[in-house]
Amino acid sequence: MRVAAAALALLALLAAAHANQKTYAGYRLLQTQPLDDERGFALAALSDQLDFWSPPRRGEGATIFVSPQELPSVEAMLKRLDIGYEVAVADMQRVLAASEPNPAPRTGGRAISFTRYNNITEIHAYLDDLAAQYPNLVTVLSAGKSLEGRDLKLIKISNSDGRTKKGAIFIDAAIHAREWIAPPVALYTISQLVENYEANKDLVDALDWYVLPVINPDGYEYTFTNERFWRKTRSNNGNPACLGVDANRNFEDNWLVIGSSTNLCSETYAGPSAASEPETQGLEAFLKSIGSDVDLYLTFHSYGQYILHPWGYTLTPADDAEQLTSLGLAAAKAIEAVRGTKYTVGGSADVLYYTSGSSQDWAKSGAGIKYSYTVELPRGGTGFDPPASAILPVVTETFEGVRVFARFFAQRSQH
Ligand SMILES: [Zn+2]
Repeated sequence: MRVAAAALALLALLAAAHANQKTYAGYRLLQTQPLDDERGFALAALSDQLDFWSPPRRGEGATIFVSPQELPSVEAMLKRLDIGYEVAVADMQRVLAASEPNPAPRTGGRAISFTRYNNITEIHAYLDDLAAQYPNLVTVLSAGKSLEGRDLKLIKISNSDGRTKKGAIFIDAAIHAREWIAPPVALYTISQLVENYEANKDLVDALDWYVLPVINPDGYEYTFTNERFWRKTRSNNGNPACLGVDANRNFEDNWLVIGSSTNLCSETYAGPSAASEPETQGLEAFLKSIGSDVDLYLTFHSYGQYILHPWGYTLTPADDAEQLTSLGLAAAKAIEAVRGTKYTVGGSADVLYYTSGSSQDWAKSGAGIKYSYTVELPRGGTGFDPPASAILPVVTETFEGVRVFARFFAQRSQH
């Protein structure tokens, strides 16, 4: 009897923990045939009605995530455009239920791990722990608060030798909440520079580092508690059924010019005005305050294996595009050397798709950071859900790329 009561209590607890979890029953991933220019442009023009997991690109297929409610209209749309497709995932809920679960946290020891996905509380605790343990190397800072009042917590890593005119690197991740593989890359970089300082001394001594592992903490937390594939912030802009802004279309650079939407329900909704989101405002203000010292801005996303640089809003290359591409290629080469993961490098609009109001474009134009990149990490699982066992291989190979970026500026900083 006692056992049954305990089992019932446990079941009730588990049910409560999952009560808010959205089910993806009947949600599909559609994979289109390779697209010629005409079909690609036609499909891209409908982007504010579709959730592209992989966008239309010349000669390649697009991947579209579709709810059961949207399915008839999306299928009709594809038929009208004469675009063939296959059902890559017929029922996302089944795939999620059958996939490797995120392991439970260990008790004791450090707050994060690279064999499981860490929630925002664990990530923030890790930053605080490091500041307590390595007070001469680490300072915890804040770029402001999210809409729901979470800290935009970041870490500054500096050997405090008092040398002025040092270069600096700024890294952020998870502006898009569902891209879970991104924060581990930021955290692994922190861990290597701080907990493995001796091995990376050259990079820490020559440069100051700022790392903000989760720039959209409300959305990120929401992907753990409610909707695994939530992308945007959590602001209410007039329609409670369609919350959130795509913060990576919300920056004050060519806002709403192209590749972003005025539709509140779109995954690329640019917001009611430029920098409407507290998360965008926080990052802009922080980067402005340190921008003149910063050599490199890296923002981690998934997925697709791209190292992208400005511009996203135009096909006209930046004046210094060749320099940006050349450094990006060197980083890509180092990543590939680890286990063969290949990245494509180039201007955002040119190699991937148009975006405007992105943090990458604004970091260059608004904060004056010459070398600004978006890194689209590898896919896993159905795309945004690599199993936890995939974290370590991705973070270790990516860090080799980060080292190449950093060495470039470390050498300059010493001259
Ligand atoms: Zn993204």
